[in-house]
Amino acid sequence: MFAQVIVDIAHSQVDKIFEYSCPDETKVGSRVKVPFGGREIDGFVIGVSRVSSYPAEKVKPLSRVFDEAPALVPECFSLMERISSRYRVPKAVALRLFVPSEMRLGKVREAFKNYVVLSDGDIRLSQSAKKQKQVLDYLKEHGCAEHAFLCNAFGNGAVKALAEKGAVKIEKRKILRGPFSGLPATGQTRTLTSAQKDALEEIENSEKTAHLIHGVTGSGKTEIYLNVIAREIERGRTAIFLVPEISLTPQMLSQLRGRFGGAAAIMHSGLSAGERFDEWWRLRSGEAKIAIGARSAIFAPLENIGAIIIDEEHDSSYVSESSPRYSTIEIAQMRAEYNGAKLVLGSATPSVETYVKASEGKIGLITLTERINKKPLPEIIIADMRREVKRGNNTPFSNALREELKETLGGGNQAIIFLNRRGYSRTVMCRDCGYVAKCENCDVTLTYHSEENCLKCHYCGTKYRMLEACPDCGGRHVLYSGTGTQRVVTELKNLFPSARILRMDNDTVSGKDGHYNILKQFSDKQADILVGTQMIAKGHDFPSVTLVGILDADMSLHFSDYRSGERTFQLITQVSGRSGRAGDKGKVVLQTCSPENYILRYAVNYDYAGFFKNEISLRKATGFPPYSIICRVMVTSENGDVALETLKNVYFSIDELRKRSPGEFIFFNKMHSPIKKIQGKIRYQVLMRLKDGKLLPEIYDIAVKNSSHSVLVYVEENPANLS
Ligand code: ADP
Ligand code: ZN
Repeated sequence: MFAQVIVDIAHSQVDKIFEYSCPDETKVGSRVKVPFGGREIDGFVIGVSRVSSYPAEKVKPLSRVFDEAPALVPECFSLMERISSRYRVPKAVALRLFVPSEMRLGKVREAFKNYVVLSDGDIRLSQSAKKQKQVLDYLKEHGCAEHAFLCNAFGNGAVKALAEKGAVKIEKRKILRGPFSGLPATGQTRTLTSAQKDALEEIENSEKTAHLIHGVTGSGKTEIYLNVIAREIERGRTAIFLVPEISLTPQMLSQLRGRFGGAAAIMHSGLSAGERFDEWWRLRSGEAKIAIGARSAIFAPLENIGAIIIDEEHDSSYVSESSPRYSTIEIAQMRAEYNGAKLVLGSATPSVETYVKASEGKIGLITLTERINKKPLPEIIIADMRREVKRGNNTPFSNALREELKETLGGGNQAIIFLNRRGYSRTVMCRDCGYVAKCENCDVTLTYHSEENCLKCHYCGTKYRMLEACPDCGGRHVLYSGTGTQRVVTELKNLFPSARILRMDNDTVSGKDGHYNILKQFSDKQADILVGTQMIAKGHDFPSVTLVGILDADMSLHFSDYRSGERTFQLITQVSGRSGRAGDKGKVVLQTCSPENYILRYAVNYDYAGFFKNEISLRKATGFPPYSIICRVMVTSENGDVALETLKNVYFSIDELRKRSPGEFIFFNKMHSPIKKIQGKIRYQVLMRLKDGKLLPEIYDIAVKNSSHSVLVYVEENPANLS
């Protein structure tokens, strides 16, 4: 037998299929080791055949076949072709998306832990051995305990002494690395509302593969997703459920566990390598049938997929920011087509791109206009911050917000304060000469963090010592301007000394449980106010939250991005949606310096239709997506000369394309990227707006050709972030 093998090297020169002779039982999809250029390297079997296309003496044998069962599902091979041609990456790079990295690198092992158990027979302890007695009492009560736990609680010495006396035994046991094992399984099956039933019927009976559920926050979309999944599971099929950020949605996990128990597996980059591997294998082996996770879970090793759900489909996290820069919705469409599965996209604020498709009938549209139980959407009160400043209010809080906070806390309810800015204050500037503190590796200003009393770069994480004096002029008047989450917490404590306040941003969360722990404290009502960045906007369901404060609604309005209006509308709607979901009526205080702005007007009235109509005519008139594709070719290198030289070559090549088909280009320019340097890499870009995607394959080719070990060139389509 002969195996067709893709070798696991990310290089276009070896991006072909190699052939090796193999044992008869070799299965398609297996991982293997093969001799290659004098070394042994990993590869994937993508086909087996009885005959070889090469003379027998030229074909070498495989060195080894890994794993009992093939790692790749059959669908991978068709997806591999589509992904590698769509995003111009070597096939090996496309295949890597489907296998956990720790499996490829052979780093995962079964996990063991030491446990302590009581031995048979009586042991007499001396009066003075108090700790040892405590250990025995604990074990009598609990049967057994983790060795590490006992040592921690009662001291190494006590445990060791007992073991030496033969009173206890230490045993090594295999453990299952079940992530989030502390999470309760919740959620009973509910009687569906008629709107939910209609939505389910529509999805079931429609000819269309994809549907958009446009439903206001709290309209019961999640319940529809769960029912779509349940139906497919009953049919013996499988499902993928994507959320923007898995650690932010413990409720979703709880509900899936409550409904489907062990059939749900979690794919999540924050898990330990072992946990990730175990969960992946549960899916691959068929033990688990539902994959839940963030965007990379779209590559779950499932066969016979019946449903793919993408919750909060507008979220920018669904576009990959590293190679291959895939769109999750695009991959989901490929997988849905391959499997004949239903694709369900859901959002209270669909992206303009998706909504256009829905309004043109390319995908189905289901609209839910009411919250469950007809609960009203929270009233949004606008606070004009220009007026506040004129009145001499220099705090981050308007009068209205202060009053509402007082009332909320007084009534025993909870509040969320949203601000899209970490740290204490925005910039640190010398009042004498105007010097602004910047990062040495990145072309960005530093942010002051009061807890560590240092300056931090939010792009590379480098910390700098606080300025005593201006490095340029020696001046001693250093100014802090702008407000960050840290400062908000400090000021809130002054205003409400007895309130319990939690902060959630990149500085306060770490590890996979970081988000979960903060959110759990808040939902257990161990805090009254949660202050946070964008993180707290995503999909949480806190029943006692009746007030949301949006401190600076203008922040995202003034980004120089064609999507800034869309982003602002989405953000306000999403954050507001956290208020008044159960119990008491909710309120939102929206602070702004441009209360007359039309985007804010639409948001305040929850007028998505109005917003969309306005936005789409604007996009049409100006030729922005979806009426064009913004394409950015990035050129980055540590060496500025190399970067500039490469930029010229890339520009020249694309200009040739333009001369050939001038009608395809609406806009074309080369320049420094807005942030000229990140992590020591100089950044240039060729920015263009294309009428459609016809030239994209050639532009990808130009990027591949100009990339080398010293300079990286890559293509972004409609990038979420143009910095
Ligand atoms: P969305 O995902 O649209 O924001 P959710 O699915 O979270 O909305 O539903 C909002 C609230 O309504 C949740 O607390 C949920 O438990 C509840 N809910 C959803 N469907 C029903 C139903 N059919 N009957 C009763 N309560 C429901
Ligand atoms: Zn930096």
